Amino acid sequence: MKKILESDCHLAEQDSSTNVLDSQCPFCSVQCTMKLLEKTASERKQYKVVPTQNSTSNGRLCIKGLNAHQHAFHAERLLHPLLKVNGKFVRVTWNEALEFIKENFFNIHKKYGYDSIGVYGSGSLTNEEAYLLGKFARVALKTKYIDYNGRFCMSAAASAMNDAFGMDRGLTNMITEIPSTSCMILAGTNIAECQPTIWPYFYQAKKNGAFIIAIDPRETATSKLANLHLKVKPGTDAALANGFLKVIFEEGYVDQVFVDKKTTGFSELKAHMNQIQLEEIAALTEIPVEKMRLAARQFAVAPTGMIFTARGVEQQTNGYLTVRNFINLVLVTGKIGKFGCGFGAITGQANGQGGREHGQKADQLPGYRSIVHPEHRKYIAKVWGIDEKDLPGKGVSAYEMMQKIAKKEILGLFVMGSNPVMSSPNSLFVEKALKSLKCLIVVDSFLSETAQLADLVLPTSTYLEDEGTMTNFEGRVTWRPANKTPPNEVKHDWQILCEIAKVLGKGSYFSFSSPEEIFQELRLASKGGKADYYGITYDRLKIERVYWPCPSFQHPGKGRLFEQSFAHSDGKARLKVVENEYPKESRSENYPLYLTTGRVLPHYLTGVQTRRSPALAARFTEAYIEIHPKTAKKYKIEPNVLVKIESARGSAVARSKYSLKIREDTVFVPFHWAQKQNINQVTADDLDPVCKMPGFKVCAVRIRPLVNLEKVYKEV
Ligand code: SF4
Repeated sequence: MKKILESDCHLAEQDSSTNVLDSQCPFCSVQCTMKLLEKTASERKQYKVVPTQNSTSNGRLCIKGLNAHQHAFHAERLLHPLLKVNGKFVRVTWNEALEFIKENFFNIHKKYGYDSIGVYGSGSLTNEEAYLLGKFARVALKTKYIDYNGRFCMSAAASAMNDAFGMDRGLTNMITEIPSTSCMILAGTNIAECQPTIWPYFYQAKKNGAFIIAIDPRETATSKLANLHLKVKPGTDAALANGFLKVIFEEGYVDQVFVDKKTTGFSELKAHMNQIQLEEIAALTEIPVEKMRLAARQFAVAPTGMIFTARGVEQQTNGYLTVRNFINLVLVTGKIGKFGCGFGAITGQANGQGGREHGQKADQLPGYRSIVHPEHRKYIAKVWGIDEKDLPGKGVSAYEMMQKIAKKEILGLFVMGSNPVMSSPNSLFVEKALKSLKCLIVVDSFLSETAQLADLVLPTSTYLEDEGTMTNFEGRVTWRPANKTPPNEVKHDWQILCEIAKVLGKGSYFSFSSPEEIFQELRLASKGGKADYYGITYDRLKIERVYWPCPSFQHPGKGRLFEQSFAHSDGKARLKVVENEYPKESRSENYPLYLTTGRVLPHYLTGVQTRRSPALAARFTEAYIEIHPKTAKKYKIEPNVLVKIESARGSAVARSKYSLKIREDTVFVPFHWAQKQNINQVTADDLDPVCKMPGFKVCAVRIRPLVNLEKVYKEV
């Protein structure tokens, strides 16, 4: 991790032959800031990245941010629209590309109706582009089918926070409160490797005496800092939270004053606690009762406490309930709405927060308004200048859209900034579905695995070229400058949307000439909503990062939420009974191991960008399977050999890596590689019934070595 140095800044300011590009890292939700120094020497460009100061990462950059620019200059950047003719891509002009879209979309609309075209967005788009994509789907295409890859990232936490608190924002507190927290539960989150530049806040808390509890089936850089690491059996996190609650009820640690004044549902939760047994939970989770007691007591008696969750507990078919149960813990102990007390779901994608606030979700309108609420619909229809009756209704989630494509209910798909062929569960099914479309249009900077299937690919700008705002994991809006001109015929996402809207006859609703103009409309559309950006302007953001809600220009933005009341109309939070549920997928004689998936530090999501950044790609060149040596021995798997991983859906190949840090019944594979290494060919497509999150973290598999390398590609 690199920290800002005085000498770096001097280099940037003083060398007049150096082109200085101010930017913000395009990868994770911290949104670290940087300067890219571009110098031409002997006709070759040289680049140096210098971290810059901001109030979140404090002048730090991790290895991904330091090398992010490499993909922006990669030789495989798409520079022109590409149309598939007889199975091969050929270069076409923008006019030809737009005509193709017009003709195909009109034909599909005419024959099959507006809902026969779907839109698939991304948690990496700027706020302006995410907002515009939602408007594009509803106003230009008039379809109800829009959703985005954030469904696989934040949907469990978002739905749980909305239901419990009446509002969903990544952190309920300011990040600066973390070092002062006395006890922390880190449930299924590996902040040290996924958001390394904020790890010093947690490290400082430990130095200040905090007791840290990590819940993870694997030992990670994060669990190393913990005083207590609970290596829970995959998929039983909700039950473990019940164990903590049982101790808190049994040993009299409930903050009854807080509960009576600020929550509903206590008597039901209490009755539920009377019915469950710690021994039963210990058997289910494989965490001894004494360890549960220790964790629960430490959290309950600590003067301040915070709980953080992430994909480890959220990407399960009971992810919503699991997060609800961790929220139950902060509520019954009264640890929220006060300094050093709160809840956080650490967002993964760059704009995982802003991307879920302004209309990319199937059920949502800008400002966290609901698409089924009559008043919300009326307000947004007025801002957009359309009749409320013309605003489509609620659609379906990201994976359900793929199911509708397979059933031929959706016949055309417009994908922006996403790679569903790799990021979806059961990805072989998704690939087959996308191949069956009448028209697939993909907007991307590279020929991603999804773009390769498209009929038309439109080249878009990268973070160095595309100005806009993002909202980081704290719920703070940030402004990303971009002073590099896009190469060749590359356009920005927002320009592409405006131009398509124009050929579809809807140009008057999309007459924007800059991201700031779009943001002005977004501000108005969010006004009065839960995610209220009305008081936030580009001028303010050029000086400071601003927390939402921020309803007026004078408002400082709200750093700590729920100090007086929660966001439900009665001001109270909701407690909820959560059963000791099993995940839908379980091990069997045929598939005797658990597979869990995740990230490695140098790579981001499906690797479309990081696999094209040589300095990052070189650190992890291929997929690996982390396996306990005893398990490896049982299946005759040597270290460093290719292993076939099979489930009821499909198979993938990864290289064996022995580790004592993982449970003997579990293997881990990262998800950044394509084709035969794509581990999502193995994962299950069971969805959480509430939030529609797939169960990426619990999948039953069998493994075997592929000893004869020549046979590998024949066998898989
Ligand atoms: Fe910062 Fe995240 Fe980028 Fe690393 S990946 S530099 S932590 S924004």
